Amino acid sequence: MEDSVAMQKRKHREFALASISELCSSLIPPPPSEAGSSSPGIARFASGDGSLPELQILRESNQVALNVDLRAAQIFRLGPVQSVCMVEGSDAGKQTSYSRGVAIQFRNEEDSEAFHCVYQQWKKEFNVQVDCFQPGGNLPNGTNAITSKSKFDEKIESSSAKMYFHYYGQLLHQQNMLQDYVRTGTYYAAVIENRADFMGRVVVDVGAGSGILSLFAAQAGAKHVYAVEASEMAEYARKLIAGNPILGQRITVIKGKVEDVELPEKADILISEPMGTLLVNERMLESYVIARDRFLTPHGKMFPSVGRIHMAPFSDEYLFVEIANKALFWQQQNYFGVDLTPLHGTAFQGYFSQPVVDAFDPRLLVAPPSFHVIDFNKIKEEELYEIDIPLRFISTVGARVHGLACWFDVLFNGSTVQRWLTTAPGSPTTHWYQLRCVLSQPIYVMAGQEITGRLHLIAHNAQSYTIYLTLSAKMWGPGAEQGGILQTSSCKLDLKEPYYRMSQPQVYPVSQDQQPQSLIQTQDVNIQSQDLDEAELMQQPSPNSCAQIDSLMQNA
Ligand code: SAH
Repeated sequence: MEDSVAMQKRKHREFALASISELCSSLIPPPPSEAGSSSPGIARFASGDGSLPELQILRESNQVALNVDLRAAQIFRLGPVQSVCMVEGSDAGKQTSYSRGVAIQFRNEEDSEAFHCVYQQWKKEFNVQVDCFQPGGNLPNGTNAITSKSKFDEKIESSSAKMYFHYYGQLLHQQNMLQDYVRTGTYYAAVIENRADFMGRVVVDVGAGSGILSLFAAQAGAKHVYAVEASEMAEYARKLIAGNPILGQRITVIKGKVEDVELPEKADILISEPMGTLLVNERMLESYVIARDRFLTPHGKMFPSVGRIHMAPFSDEYLFVEIANKALFWQQQNYFGVDLTPLHGTAFQGYFSQPVVDAFDPRLLVAPPSFHVIDFNKIKEEELYEIDIPLRFISTVGARVHGLACWFDVLFNGSTVQRWLTTAPGSPTTHWYQLRCVLSQPIYVMAGQEITGRLHLIAHNAQSYTIYLTLSAKMWGPGAEQGGILQTSSCKLDLKEPYYRMSQPQVYPVSQDQQPQSLIQTQDVNIQSQDLDEAELMQQPSPNSCAQIDSLMQNA
């Protein structure tokens, strides 16, 4: 049996709060006196008249910020010391429904822990339905979490997800991205130059990593940023953000997948860096699109809003020979008395199934590129499961075509400045480099000849894609007039298993009439007449210059 003191204690439990601030609802703005302000106060659980369970949030001045029947309220834990209390109600006169939210910040984690403990007790006692910031509840913003909760887990193998988030949980990999100054500098410039899109807005950082983009958004004047990060990096992001308190007080780190977590309010703008090799690797664009559907207001902005995959056929004897030679090992008939040749075919196919990641000289391209657009504002998540791109190029030179070169760019469609982040060959190199799919059987083309084909990407449950590439060219030379015969070459590659070739020395011809000196005698490669006008070749605005970004940082 409980003694009366304990009962009394449970009846009134008070917790000092470091701050209380109103969250704006689009339907019911807070009273002008409270809008945007934050002040210290207390949160008190109390049994109101008739023993109704109540939560009172009182400002220092004893002014009531919120006084709700706990059964009509929902409390979400946003971070170690931050929580939000939401209450749904209706305005009888106007017959409209509304929701109100008050964000509270405890003085420390212990207070926060104790508050939620007491809340759990009250819940048990009064049979209150609690949605303690867990997926699965029917929460005020966005869809019912049950429908989208397992979207990630349904399609992604758990072992892949585990390795993926383990990778991003390590600071060294976040540092690698932060040290890609083309990448990070372009994000910074795009945000700072477009302050108007962030000023006073609610932002969600989709896959926040170290929290860097959240901090940029806060620098640009965001009212509040929800930094959602699924990996252990969320803890480091909290630390980094706490160490930048002027910005950090407007950022809440939420650990979890964007597919699962709930947020207390809708966002005016999403910011994210979801791009992988070939834009789509890692399948994070799908999470970006799910975040859009779950968190973004109908006419909200996405930073970036568009991505393009650029493609062009290339000729690179060095690369082709290098890959073919890797399998030569398996042509030995007397390897310590063992004939290795039965595995030569398999090894050969294996090497050609690896897309090559490196930075190549754009003069290796044999035709102007084409591109495929992915509009992040409009695309449905399912449309990213299979991407089918028809190809058509006109060769500008006679060459052996060894495959398809690909790169991507994304657009920050700010209302002040539009900025592209590009990974094109010849532009400042990024940590994505470029990607090349190499055919085990090259095709021959002459200048002016049409090259057709298909790039077919099929998503798999290891957060990547199987790539099916076909390139064809009409026969040329003797016998070709017999009509319509195609040389066709196809290959199947796994985007998850690239061959990182960056450490290889890159020896490419520097002048027009300089031919590559083949180590192994190969067919003539004639790429000399490619007098490529870079602007025309890339079909995009000129790349961001580091000097521009530098000057921006100085002015910020
Ligand atoms: N925004 C950071 C990190 C980008 S890397 C920056 O620009 O530096 C992508 C991050 O998204 C990784 O830290 C990864 O763990 C996270 N991520 C990927 N998929 C996610 C998902 N479905 N939900 C939440 N975080 C995710």
